[in-house]
Amino acid sequence: MKKILVTGGTGFVGSNLCKRLLDEGHEVLCLDNFLTSSEETVHDLLKNKRFEIIEHDIINSFSSDVDQIYNLACPASPPYYQLDPIHTTKTCVLGAINMLGLAKRTGARILQASTSEVYGDPEVHPQNESYWGKVNPNGIRSCYDEGKRCAETLFFDYYRQHKVDIRIVRIFNTYGPNMDPNDGRVVSNFIIQALQNKDITIYGDGSQTRSFQYIDDLVEVMVRMMNNEKGFTGPVNTGNPNEFTIKELAEKVLKMLPESKSKIIYKELPQDDPKQRQPDITLAKKELGWEPTIQLEEGLLKTIPYFREKIEKKESVKASN
Ligand code: UDP
Repeated sequence: MKKILVTGGTGFVGSNLCKRLLDEGHEVLCLDNFLTSSEETVHDLLKNKRFEIIEHDIINSFSSDVDQIYNLACPASPPYYQLDPIHTTKTCVLGAINMLGLAKRTGARILQASTSEVYGDPEVHPQNESYWGKVNPNGIRSCYDEGKRCAETLFFDYYRQHKVDIRIVRIFNTYGPNMDPNDGRVVSNFIIQALQNKDITIYGDGSQTRSFQYIDDLVEVMVRMMNNEKGFTGPVNTGNPNEFTIKELAEKVLKMLPESKSKIIYKELPQDDPKQRQPDITLAKKELGWEPTIQLEEGLLKTIPYFREKIEKKESVKASN
């Protein structure tokens, strides 16, 4: 049994990861500033004596004697990370420094939740880990993209300078239960819109592509990466390489909810919206023996009931555009 710190532990990925780690018998310390999430995602975990939540913003230092750190804290959807972009950069950069400092002091192994956004609007397709990316340094997505890139820099500098035991995973689009219904991601928006018989909002002409990974596949690769004893630092891509246009996704959601009266409408494409994104997961297969097991239709089937329940409970659920 290990003592494991999860920053951003009440977020979408964090809450699913905390559950998995508790199921494995570990002690889990969850840090969150509750900026874009709440205790509700971990409600069922709170009765577990091995689970503890501390309200804390990782832009401030933190001390605890832990064996492993999963550094997940950061708003991840464009509408949320753009609300206070300076704080987003601080979370990425100061947060990484604080957590790396803790790893250095305690000897803990530390995993960084990086992102496909480090590739920006990529010129190569699919993206593998050796591609350096094409990122706008001063656009509205830069606080997140450049923040996450700088966090990777810090991880490798602590590794080279202080021998901190690091791991980096670059997460591509992921969906599943515990997603924040109001954070404007495409999967949550389309499902909520279809369930509420509202217009399905495609930005641009819907020809841009994404590949969608189900949350359980992501949690599996993160745990494998953390526990890999061959000293494999990454960065390693994690995502589902099956690529869909956004229009295909909208059609799929409508096909899976045939009772929906929603119609597709087209809205303006946001600035710096990447045209194409697809992970090359060769490295994860080779080093971790991992590949995704849940394809889009199966994953959507597991996700729709979660949003349906939220809507039925009459929580404030509204696709945000
Ligand atoms: N998108 C859309 N309608 C929505 C929300 C998003 O067409 O209601 C598009 C968005 O412009 C982008 C893609 O879906 O091209 C994925 O958006 P998301 O914010 O989920 O992820 P990211 O852009 O970070 O990949």
